[in-house]
Amino acid sequence: MKSPRPSGDDGQNLAELSARADELRRELDRASYEYHVLDRPTISDAQYDRMYRELLELEEAHPTLRTPDSPTQRVGAEPASQLAKHTHLVAMLSLSNAFNDEELAAWEERIVRLAGDSVRKAGYNCELKIDGAAIALTYREGVLVAGATRGNGTIGELVTTNLRTIREIPLRLRGSDHPPMMEIRGEVYMPFSGFERMNEQRIAAGQPVFANPRNAAAGALRQLDPKITASRPLKFYGYAIALPDGETLPVSTQDALLDLLESWGIPVAPHRRCCLGLEKVNEWAHEIEHKVRGSLDFAIDGGVVKVNGLSLWPDLGVVGGREPRYAIARKFAPDIAETKLLGIEVNVGRTGTINPFAVLDPVEIGGAQVKLATLHNFDLVARKDLRVGDLVQVKRAGEVIPQVIGPVPDRRDAANPPAPYVPPTHCPSCGTALITGSEQGMLYCPNFDCPSRQLEGLVHFASRNAMDIRGLSYARIRQLVDAKLVHDPSDLYDLTAGQLVELDRLAEKSAWALIQALEASKAQPLSKLLFALGVEGVGEIAAKQIAKHFGTMDAIADATAEQILEIHGIGDTIAESIVAWFANPRARRLIDRLRERGLTLTEPQTQTSGALKGMTVVITGSLPTLSRDQAIALVEANGGRVANSVSKKTSFVVVGEDAGSKLEKARQLGVETIDEAELKHRVAVT
Ligand code: NAD
Repeated sequence: MKSPRPSGDDGQNLAELSARADELRRELDRASYEYHVLDRPTISDAQYDRMYRELLELEEAHPTLRTPDSPTQRVGAEPASQLAKHTHLVAMLSLSNAFNDEELAAWEERIVRLAGDSVRKAGYNCELKIDGAAIALTYREGVLVAGATRGNGTIGELVTTNLRTIREIPLRLRGSDHPPMMEIRGEVYMPFSGFERMNEQRIAAGQPVFANPRNAAAGALRQLDPKITASRPLKFYGYAIALPDGETLPVSTQDALLDLLESWGIPVAPHRRCCLGLEKVNEWAHEIEHKVRGSLDFAIDGGVVKVNGLSLWPDLGVVGGREPRYAIARKFAPDIAETKLLGIEVNVGRTGTINPFAVLDPVEIGGAQVKLATLHNFDLVARKDLRVGDLVQVKRAGEVIPQVIGPVPDRRDAANPPAPYVPPTHCPSCGTALITGSEQGMLYCPNFDCPSRQLEGLVHFASRNAMDIRGLSYARIRQLVDAKLVHDPSDLYDLTAGQLVELDRLAEKSAWALIQALEASKAQPLSKLLFALGVEGVGEIAAKQIAKHFGTMDAIADATAEQILEIHGIGDTIAESIVAWFANPRARRLIDRLRERGLTLTEPQTQTSGALKGMTVVITGSLPTLSRDQAIALVEANGGRVANSVSKKTSFVVVGEDAGSKLEKARQLGVETIDEAELKHRVAVT
């Protein structure tokens, strides 16, 4: 291995280093062409960044090795498509990277040296670094007249018609305070959900899949046929404004600039924060990387830290004509990785669903070790044509549950492919023959006494959002089931401290705590109990609505599907599922046993006064400060009711980040939509 770091400047060493720099330049150029022009990368971003850093360090230590065409001296790649070209008003630059807190501190030190302490005093604006494709939108008198890709930073490709198909990009800006002519810059991206759907459709149509959402977004933008762009689920976030020479903006800070963009109807990425001091910046970056990133429906590859005072930017200058000093990308570990699929296994859910999951060669994604990933259902396994032995792409998404995106294109040994996957025919837990069910691609174990079903059912019963029985962990329930002390939820209430103490590793104090927790759970209202019973399709919101509507367990048990359907927001599937569940004599017996043990089978009276009295509210997307539960509680505490689907009877819809079909529906039906701030205003919370 050649060392990238010079050990001395003798001719021999310099020749070696020069050869290494050549090699790195060639590799980086090839990767850049595949990434920027073909939208088909063959190496990971982390690999690219490592090589780039090595070249940068070599050139810094030996400036004679720096060539004018080095990737460190230019932005992106030459635009090479058949699209018309567009010269940017002001160059669109790249960003330098900081991979940890120390590198960020070194950046601050440099800029303070250059522009003085006022940089620190101005604070930093921290923004998500959206992993999409950079674009510039030209607005004249508030009207969109042109849109272009970044290209080589000076010249991009004109993709106006394609950009017009992205509904989030306003064709006309709101308000009237816009400069007569400007470029609004930002990132076009493809949400994970849309990306997966699109790749599934491509697999079904026999087309090659996209490697990642970034390349899919960039590829979609550079289509010659705007209909193709329109069919791709693209979105947009803005973050910058470029003006002709001599013009100025009516704001003096980056955070005010983002507010201004929002006021014009330009979507701005969530989770931005103004931070005074690097300590706060680091806190923000760690929070985003470890808490927020996994819950976003779009890819970010870091944060961007910008000096907040706009007047300081020109003084800070640009490095190598490529990287402005006023900002830096605080990069995170990648959240998509490639690894080997070692096996496809299944577990049995509480309603008998057979859930396939992937066993992976352990790989680090976004700072966590991933060994298992969900595969959702057997249709998906078949459509993605996942085979044990494949190299697969895995991402962490949603509530940090890893997902397998699919096999890495072109990486299967065509001469010797692994065998296609064959789903099981019998339950791995009890051996009963599996059946197909209502949901496409799912298999079910129909045996009520299946030990795995019992276990999962009890775990759900005790879980926090259900009966909230503290101390009844998965492992403890497994012990209880294995010891044959518990078969169904009613058995939990017959447990004695003596029996519990006999269990392995359960101290007397913990045993008593568990008995008390069980006792306390008896007071949970009907809505919690109904949810805890795990009736298929009955989630928390539906359980609450049904419990409120009927008031008692007996009334629910005796209700017909028609009566249940009278509840606003409850559809056929749930109504039929409830009727079928209570039609089973075993279910009736379970309810009787729970009643005998003193559980609450009624729902307390609801609030009938308050600012939202009599209103039906739908909440969609993620709200800036309130969790879903908190928003529901706020509506209910003010006399309103939360429904889970939009209809003409909906009073208004509270819309958060990444709202989807419910927002669409509200618009179609002309139902009022408001944001979280307005909701708080209506119920007078500040
Ligand atoms: P970059 O992506 O690291 O950073 C600059 C870009 O960040 C800007 O142009 C802008 O598009 C974007 N950005 C997102 N959110 C932003 C915000 N809030 N404010 C400002 N900018 C924001 O740099 P780059 O020059 O676009 O691309 C280089 C990167 O691309 C490399 O670090 C590497 O990760 C990747 N790359 C990968 C390959 C490969 O083969 N895998 C090849 C070439 C480049």
